[in-house]
Order: sequence, then C-alpha cells, then structure tokens
Amino acid sequence: MTDAHFHRAGETIASLNGTEYRFCGIHPWNAESVDLAAELARFRSMLGTDPSLGVGEIGLDRLKDKTITPIQREAFTAQLELAAEMGRPVALHGAKCWGEVVKAICPYAGRIPAFLFHGFSRSDGLLPDIVKVNGFVGVGKAVLNDHAVNYRELVKKIPLDRLLLETDSEDLPDADRSAVLAEIFAKTAELTSVTESQIDSNMAVFISSLAT
Ligand SMILES: [Zn+2]
Repeated sequence: MTDAHFHRAGETIASLNGTEYRFCGIHPWNAESVDLAAELARFRSMLGTDPSLGVGEIGLDRLKDKTITPIQREAFTAQLELAAEMGRPVALHGAKCWGEVVKAICPYAGRIPAFLFHGFSRSDGLLPDIVKVNGFVGVGKAVLNDHAVNYRELVKKIPLDRLLLETDSEDLPDADRSAVLAEIFAKTAELTSVTESQIDSNMAVFISSLAT
C-alpha cells in the first residue's frame, strides 16, 4: 500500500508498495532556527548525489504563529528554486495558509514536476489550482473523525486521479502504520469509491521524476 507522507528518525518519507522515497527540506517550524545557507548547500549536495531524493516537507505555517515570517518565506522560496533546478517533486506544508502556499508555488508549475498537498484541509476552492500545478492531495487521519464533516465533504471533491493517502506518522512501527493506512483507505474508499490501484498509480505519477 501507498503512504504518501510519514516521518521516521527525523526523515520525511513516502512509500509505494514497499519502496521508500526520502525527502529533504527545512520544515517551516524550523526556518528560524537553522543556518539557511548551510542547509541549502547540504541539500544541494544530497540531491546531487541521490536522484531518488525529493524535497520536503517545506512550506508556510500559520498554525504555530499567526504571522508568516520573512525568514519562513525566504526558506520556502529558496527550496522551491532548488527543487525546480534539480527537477524533484515537493511535499508541501501549509497549515492555515494554503492560499498563500498556492500563490507561492504557481510560478513553479511545469518547473517542479509534482506537489503533494500534505495535510491539506482547506475548502475545495483551491482544487483547480492544485490540478494545474500537478498537485496531489494527501488524505489523512482527519477523515476518520466522524465530526469532521467539512473535511469529508472536501475529500469527496478531490478528483480521483489527484488523491493520495498519508499517515503523517512519527516513528510508528510499520505494522501499526499499515493498520492506520488501511483505516484511512477504507473510509476514503467509502466516500469516493477510489481504488487501491488508482492510489498506487497516482503515487507513481507523483514520484515519477525520482530514480528508484
Ligand atoms: Zn509531516
């Protein structure tokens, strides 16, 4: 099964049928505390030596702090530039500011091969733009919450060829992660009639620019 986004030992990973793809990037929560130039140089060299490496989780955030700082924006833009230059897919973070994230990535449509809208929970108004930039929406544990009525309505509107599943788990043993993933799949399939093979082929498109 396909898990579009999870974390293990500090790394961001996507898996398709047992094959794992790692992503490198500065999370917006860490943008203030790292040496941006040094991290960018490190990622550039990692991406240069490993053609199976994507870029993420990167983006903007208004969950921890109401204002998006200039350093957060600078880190995001610099990493988008790097992903475009290296031709790698990007896993996005945009808690409470997805409109801003979409605005920032639109100029990269066609230059960055694909985007994962990780943890996307905004209204369906952004879906056309997500399709336009070759974006995929990661459906996560929120779908299991019977009170998340609006989220389930959003999930129903995701085009089937744009839908991925993600546990966003941190250091969860693989067996437990699979169990969570199976639950997310069952609920999502009930809402959308998406199939496992559709999700696998969406994932294959998302990571198609990466070497195995
Ligand atoms: Zn995550």
